[in-house]
Amino acid sequence: MKSHYRAIVIGGGVVGCSVLYHLARYGWTDVLLIERSELTSGSSWHAAGGFHTLNGDPNVAKLQAYTVSLYKELEEISGQSCGLHLTGGVMMADTPERMDFLRLAHAKGRYLGMNTELITPSEAKAMFPLMDETNFVGAMWDPVEGHLDPSGTTHAYAKAARKLGAEIELRNRVVELTQTPDGTWNVITEKGTVHAEHVVNAGGLWAREVGRMVGLELPLLAMEHMYLLTEDMPEVMEYNKATGRELIGVMDFKGEIYTRQERNGILLGTYEKACKPWSPVETPWTFGHELLQPDIERIAPSLEIGFKHYPAVEKAGIKQIINGPFTFAPDGNPLVGPVQGLTNFWCACAVMAGFSQGGGVGLALSQWMINGDPGADIWGMDVARFGEWATLRYTNAKVRENYSRRFSIRFPNEELPAARPHQTTPVYDIMVRDNHAVMGDSWGVETPLWFAPSAREAHDIPTYHRSNDFKHIGAEVKAARERVGVTETSNFAKYQVDGPGAEAFLDRLMTNTMPKVGRIVLTPMLNERGKIIGDFTIARLAAERFMIWGSIAAQKYHMRWFERHLPKDGSVAVKRFGMNLVGLSIVGPHARDLLQKLTDTDVSNAAFRFMDIREMDVNTAPCIVNRLTYAGDLGYELWMAPAYQRKVYDGIKAAGAEFGIADFGMRALLSMRLEKNFPTWFRELRPIYGVFEGGMERFIKLNKGDFIGRDAAAREQAEGPKLRRVSLVVEADTADVMGDEPIWARTTTDHGTVEKPHGYGAPRRDAAGNLTPKDPDTGIERDGWRVVGWVTSGGYAHHVGKSMAQGYVPAALAADESEGLFEIEILGQRRAARINIEPLFDPAGERMRA
Ligand SMILES: Cc1cc2nc3c(=O)[nH]c(=O)nc-3n(C[C@H](O)[C@H](O)[C@H](O)COP(=O)(O)OP(=O)(O)OC[C@H]3O[C@@H](n4cnc5c(N)ncnc54)[C@H](O)[C@@H]3O)c2cc1C
Repeated sequence: MKSHYRAIVIGGGVVGCSVLYHLARYGWTDVLLIERSELTSGSSWHAAGGFHTLNGDPNVAKLQAYTVSLYKELEEISGQSCGLHLTGGVMMADTPERMDFLRLAHAKGRYLGMNTELITPSEAKAMFPLMDETNFVGAMWDPVEGHLDPSGTTHAYAKAARKLGAEIELRNRVVELTQTPDGTWNVITEKGTVHAEHVVNAGGLWAREVGRMVGLELPLLAMEHMYLLTEDMPEVMEYNKATGRELIGVMDFKGEIYTRQERNGILLGTYEKACKPWSPVETPWTFGHELLQPDIERIAPSLEIGFKHYPAVEKAGIKQIINGPFTFAPDGNPLVGPVQGLTNFWCACAVMAGFSQGGGVGLALSQWMINGDPGADIWGMDVARFGEWATLRYTNAKVRENYSRRFSIRFPNEELPAARPHQTTPVYDIMVRDNHAVMGDSWGVETPLWFAPSAREAHDIPTYHRSNDFKHIGAEVKAARERVGVTETSNFAKYQVDGPGAEAFLDRLMTNTMPKVGRIVLTPMLNERGKIIGDFTIARLAAERFMIWGSIAAQKYHMRWFERHLPKDGSVAVKRFGMNLVGLSIVGPHARDLLQKLTDTDVSNAAFRFMDIREMDVNTAPCIVNRLTYAGDLGYELWMAPAYQRKVYDGIKAAGAEFGIADFGMRALLSMRLEKNFPTWFRELRPIYGVFEGGMERFIKLNKGDFIGRDAAAREQAEGPKLRRVSLVVEADTADVMGDEPIWARTTTDHGTVEKPHGYGAPRRDAAGNLTPKDPDTGIERDGWRVVGWVTSGGYAHHVGKSMAQGYVPAALAADESEGLFEIEILGQRRAARINIEPLFDPAGERMRA
């Protein structure tokens, strides 16, 4: 161990070793990993070793695919076997709804380059004969699944890293971390202090404790997890002998079970409903290579289903039950990246599937540390997606919920109940009790989704199809488009940027020019690679005071970026309001008349123009009022301190009665934005798209002077974007798009790659059956149709009465509005779709400006 390193990785589990390997692989060889005991002394050693590529987030799925594709290379570099068994696997559906889920996953796989196939239960049984196929209605086959040796794999990463020059220090615990004024770290260990520019927390089961060393409370929790191993089973050995093949892996939704062959028997694991956190407050440093006491009672309900679905397993003797802890974040995805408010402190924690995700985590984090950017869209596992609201107890409730639903379907209209309501605004009770709102969870904030006519009807019926909210949302949209509607907008992110350097600071970060005092602009924000990392509404209240509105989900993500670029001279201050500033919005032809009744400020069109901002009293409450709305109609957003929100809301309702005012929720707002072709953050606009691809060219001023991402954006313009965001009308009937469906086109021309531009490629097998790291495919052809793109979001646009989708297609196709050119796959059925370039509602934007 030297006295100084460029980076120190804390933790020698599979994740820390992968981070170490990737740092060395991409050029940082002056790196050290510190492990308090031997490698794999946390959860890595007793893992079941299964791997697969499927993940609800396609971007995380890509990183999982990368992980799997890496193992061969790792074996070659390290000379250490990973004990790879690439058996392939099936996911079994026992109900039509679960089959719909598989159809969606299969469709998604098309543009991700996955070779999944929908198969019958009998076909699945042929590969896993222990199954009683009569319990199932269908299955999905994925050839890129299997299992490996967890210890061998961790050591393979470590050996490969060492060969590249990285160092590993064993049997030495990091006990304290202190930061020096220049932002570098003193890493205080049992054997002395080492200095490092960067520190990575890959502490696994102790990641919370390592976080606490720097004042962080990371939202993660370890759960006990059990799998059993049977004695040798004749059925297994007979199959092996007859076919020369190993049994495949099986994921079984009904029992929240996974199973596969292990030696001559079976390994069967469960995500039981009666799940149990382990060491919920603090992980003991004394815990090491030991297992927890098995609790067969707890997994009995899952086993009962397992025995019914795989009868031979019941007859087999149980050789051993493994019970070990491993960590989860509230949504089950890893916590990766730099931590807002800390310099050079990085996380690689809460990796619940280290053998599917560890490689992708190592790759993304190493790129981020070395190049300042993860090189891919890793939002799904960015540590910034959780805020201070994800407390210890909140995390406990959400992790338990997530664990017990590990293989459950989450329907697109399904809200999960644990730890809710969490953050509420002053109108919450009115919304729920008086107005029968069905509430949703917007990153910890309760938000009205839609309003039911009675308390009895105020719930969602979870489905992939149009649901019980459909006609009520239609009525809400009608009220807003034809009369006036009111909704709550507290679930926006709000910031204030002020100081003498504020304008120059924002000018450097944003693509648009900054507004004059009293005016508003819309502007994307780019990273150095010219990719869209933010989309904001910016208003200027005074020469040196700006207000910014953005996505609530991205608050920490954006604060991290703002702080990173703040001038060191203190000339700019950035403040995030959180729920200290809440909002309401009024929309519709009578919105102005209504606002005028509540204020003495002149809000006529001449005095208060479209894209103006004013501070004014509304029903006696001091408010900031923006003249714009996401509904793309005449309307206003009103922002106030929470203490005034009820007063303003009550005033709006009373003054609006004569105009037939109605409440509308988030779903009606999203429906209205569809018919305006407005994009949403994290669906249409993400860090994988350029500003021209995203159709945001109106908001970029390439000649305004230098700004971050300008050169890359200018190159994108000069070369022409590869993809374009488009709006499509879809011939749907009972189900609309949800996002991530493939877009097919009738075309014989190769319009270029359909691979999502994440940069990592999906795994494929070459002719010899070996995994190849790059996806060589440029599209899937079938009867003259090709998958050319993907849907980002969509739904039903109630005012224009059309099912609509937004998505990305090759730029060469994006201006073609012909009928019969596109089809979108909804729940396994391809539906005709047509691009519409002009918004279907108010294409000239006259209503907004009226
Ligand atoms: C029963 C069971 C079955 C599983 N099955 C699978 C599976 O089939 N597939 C799959 O992908 N995953 C599976 N997992 C999950 C998998 O084990 C984890 O995703 C993985 O181990 C996480 O690795 P890690 O490196 O993040 O953490 P850990 O393995 O916990 O490693 C953290 C390391 O950091 C060290 N450390 C912590 N603090 C310090 C400090 N202050 N100083 C020095 N060293 C420190 C620890 O000693 C430890 O070695 C399973 C887990 C269990 C328990």
